[in-house]
Amino acid sequence: MSKIFEKLKVLADAAKYDASCASSGSKRFNQNKGLGNAEGMGICHSYTEDGRCVSLLKILFTNHCIYDCAYCVSRRSNDVRRAAFTVEEVVDLTINFYRRNYIEGLFLSSGIFKNPDYTMERLVRVAKQLRLNHNFHGYIHLKAIPGASPELLKEAGLYADRLSVNIELPSETSLQKVAPEKQYRDILGPMNYLKEEKEERSDHRPQRSKTQLFLPAGQSTQMIVGASPESDYQVLRLADSLYQRQKLKRVYYSGYIPIATDNRVPALKAPPLIRENRVYQADWLMRFYQFSVDEIVNEATPNLDLDIDPKLSYALRNRHLFPVDINQADYEMILRIPGVGVKSAQKIVSSRIYQKLNIDHLQRIGVVMKRARYFIKCPGLYNANSDISSKDLRSLILSGEQQNSLQLALFS
Ligand code: SF4
Repeated sequence: MSKIFEKLKVLADAAKYDASCASSGSKRFNQNKGLGNAEGMGICHSYTEDGRCVSLLKILFTNHCIYDCAYCVSRRSNDVRRAAFTVEEVVDLTINFYRRNYIEGLFLSSGIFKNPDYTMERLVRVAKQLRLNHNFHGYIHLKAIPGASPELLKEAGLYADRLSVNIELPSETSLQKVAPEKQYRDILGPMNYLKEEKEERSDHRPQRSKTQLFLPAGQSTQMIVGASPESDYQVLRLADSLYQRQKLKRVYYSGYIPIATDNRVPALKAPPLIRENRVYQADWLMRFYQFSVDEIVNEATPNLDLDIDPKLSYALRNRHLFPVDINQADYEMILRIPGVGVKSAQKIVSSRIYQKLNIDHLQRIGVVMKRARYFIKCPGLYNANSDISSKDLRSLILSGEQQNSLQLALFS
């Protein structure tokens, strides 16, 4: 096996724990000169702002690290195989994979060797060489190393489409316990700097100019869920603040993968994947459904219900707001009905101008009636369950959905 292939194996494997883009994880190798090659190593998929799915070469520059974050497979004290690329190797790999049409871009993260600036400078050189020496117009996502200097971040922003500084844990107290070398100020500082730089440049950018793009795909971050004791309320409040103050495009949540035998992190048997999924659903409600954090979770109910999605949970906790009159309610309230998505809500509001909507219209619009029927009022819908308690309604909905999936399993 060639040296570069060996490095790729180590550094693509180490990169898979970063949730900012999901690994395809396929191991279907090309044999007998077939078409295509879904190699397990290093190719992952990510979504661009306009919803396109792009495949990226997802690797670490190195998994050597001077830090000892308890949740991380590359931490200093972990006994794993180490490797490091050179700048030229990453550039060559990217160009070669791109030319073979395996990838549309690069996701490059790294452990920290020597110090943050030494590492960041290499990541910037990769992006710069790709853009300037190879006229590369593919997508580049770089990890902004916490503690790197503003000059390097600024340069990174000129060549990368997106930068991410990982916030890692939902509170500074937990960060200090689990990743003692990291501090919130070294994470929030770069985020604030990049936000300000981007705002300043877009203020002064001439209309339609393509010459001064700075981080066109913005910033993202990753937060690990389940490696520390914070509630979902704390997780979502921090995410909300990152969206509002630092203007992040995305917060990615990663259910803690119990890879570490380190007593600073809990000894979980499996990653808390359902919790991760519920947190993503809550994040979606905040970004697209106009929910505030406190409507989803709050001091009284600090954790998400793992058995039902957060929107249904909200509706069951706020029965006094339902049923919602489809022909009268404002858009914000229609968005809060379980079974009604953003597109359906928009269609409801735009089409009820011309006619009174009934149950048939709603079905045609795409409303999921098996959910929505318990929470709406409209002609043609008889709701026999309006008086039952939230607890019984919850059981009714859950048992109905279980039966549906059982039937689907039996007849498909
Ligand atoms: S700094 Fe990054 S690579 Fe290094 S141990 Fe911490 S999380 Fe892992």
